[in-house]
Amino acid sequence: MRRRDTPMPWDRVTIPESCPQCGATAMASHVQRGASMGYAFSFECTVCRYQTMADGDMPPEDVRAVFLATSGTWELIHDTDDEKRPQLARFLVDDLGVERAAAVKLAKSRGATLTTGTRVEMEWLHRRLAAHGLTTDLRRVR
Ligand SMILES: [Zn+2]
Repeated sequence: MRRRDTPMPWDRVTIPESCPQCGATAMASHVQRGASMGYAFSFECTVCRYQTMADGDMPPEDVRAVFLATSGTWELIHDTDDEKRPQLARFLVDDLGVERAAAVKLAKSRGATLTTGTRVEMEWLHRRLAAHGLTTDLRRVR
């Protein structure tokens, strides 16, 4: 049994950016967190102290690419018992946008890769599925 109080997954990368106010280069912080699948950006210029921050669901693609490059690309592997196939197929359709026939086929393929993404995204999905009694494994692919 997985303990209920395991910390929620999160990951952080820093990327140098130009200050929009004075042009100096400072590190912007990008955080992806799995509590409710959120993304947060913050920037503070070390020269003029200009500050900005933003929140959202998903990081911009260029930032997401940095998460993938630094923390790896992860796979969510199907390890759900046969009797829960219909629930798994429904999840694939409703939450991952898989086409229905493909979802049914994928739900029959224990050991198959359900989706790939950042570590936090895959851990978040892994936990959501576990909450519905659907078992998956995580594997770093690169
Ligand atoms: Zn500045």
